[in-house]
Amino acid sequence: MTSSTTQTRVRFAPSPTGKLHVGNVRTALMNVLHARKSGGTFILRIDDTDTTRGSAELEQGLKDDLSWLGLHWQETFNQSDRFKLYDEAAEKLKDMGLLYPAYDTSEELDRQRKLQAVKGKPPIYDRRALELTDAQKAAYEAEGRQPHWRFKLSGQSVSWTDMVRGEQSIETSSISDPVLIRGDGTYLYTLPSVFDDIESGITHVIRGEDHVTNSGAQIEIFRALQGDMGGGTEPRFAHTPLLVDKDGGKLSKRLDSLSMRQLREDGYEPMAILSLLAKIGTSDPVEERFTLKQLVEEFSFDKIGRAPARFDDDELRGLNAKILHETPYAQVKDRLDALGVAGGEAFWLAIRDNIDVVDDAAGWNTILFAPMAGLIDADDKTFCDTAAELLSDETDWSGLIKTLKAHTDRKGKGLFMPLRKALTGRNHGPEMGPLLSLMGPERARARLRGETA
Ligand code: GLU
Repeated sequence: MTSSTTQTRVRFAPSPTGKLHVGNVRTALMNVLHARKSGGTFILRIDDTDTTRGSAELEQGLKDDLSWLGLHWQETFNQSDRFKLYDEAAEKLKDMGLLYPAYDTSEELDRQRKLQAVKGKPPIYDRRALELTDAQKAAYEAEGRQPHWRFKLSGQSVSWTDMVRGEQSIETSSISDPVLIRGDGTYLYTLPSVFDDIESGITHVIRGEDHVTNSGAQIEIFRALQGDMGGGTEPRFAHTPLLVDKDGGKLSKRLDSLSMRQLREDGYEPMAILSLLAKIGTSDPVEERFTLKQLVEEFSFDKIGRAPARFDDDELRGLNAKILHETPYAQVKDRLDALGVAGGEAFWLAIRDNIDVVDDAAGWNTILFAPMAGLIDADDKTFCDTAAELLSDETDWSGLIKTLKAHTDRKGKGLFMPLRKALTGRNHGPEMGPLLSLMGPERARARLRGETA
């Protein structure tokens, strides 16, 4: 799979431990936008080295959600199918003297850290395991201790030019040698991720800024393995700022309500979600876009700022409404049918400017096609009766208004508002012309007379 070309290859690497939410969708989207902008390949990698029960369903859920959003991948694979390869990579690191066994229990590590704190030292693993003799190791193992394996950092500074954050450098002397393999032999995410990035020929690692510190160790593992595996070059990194809510608070508590499942159930359109996620935290205005292609054309890492991106539900609702205002009937027909909405295309065109989500159409359906009494103020009673008499069978709204103007002394709001209220029970809503013809003359007359119809 190693790629020797410079064709862009990116990956979105979710762990199937929960539902896909706005935070990880933003990462997926950035990867897709960059891949499409550069004519590259988007890979969906399932980081399931910690396979737990239910992860197959969660994985399917992630895939369904990405597909629903239109974020299609060209290749996909699961890390859980590749343990043999990770074992080989681990062996290579061991042979290089870069992966060493450590026998410290978590209590011992805790004690070390407390001691360091007392001495005013940073809580960095002191590498005592490197001092162990073979006999000491054997004694630990005889005791039943299984080693975990740590990667030996260089102690040098690791630098890279981040496509979002600019020049970055991590002093590896300021971090603990990371554990790559746990005592029970399972892998933490670090080694499989780096190995797969190399093997998949990943050219750009695009992910949230919570991974910046990991990058120091990961780059050293890249360099170690690449010296061994040959061919590839280190990928470029882009760490995007995290999402916060509109007041700057953490989103983590709301991730369930901000899952794709929930947003889909709440009636949001994929392009509303994608438009918002593509634009917040960038120098572009937050505006609705109707196709992924438009977002691709406008995408650039240079536009992404360093400040957290604010996710505002109201803004999402606003974008959704704007998208629906332009959505043709064919695109929503099935959903309207499922809502049991009557009136076909004419109905959709009449009401689409007045809804935030497609489900709101049901409300207008009830207003137009189910028996209801409108609102008629005492002062307007005679006027509405006159309107009922004058209403032609063609239900021509502007004709009715013209005739009423001639027959009464009313004009402007005093003329049409009583009619709107009598006919729809509301004082705002879609244009009356189409509503009136959808409602039909009989129902309209009855409502104007104050009847339930
Ligand atoms: N599975 C990791 C995560 O979900 C992937 C991080 C990365 O993109 O390297 O955080």
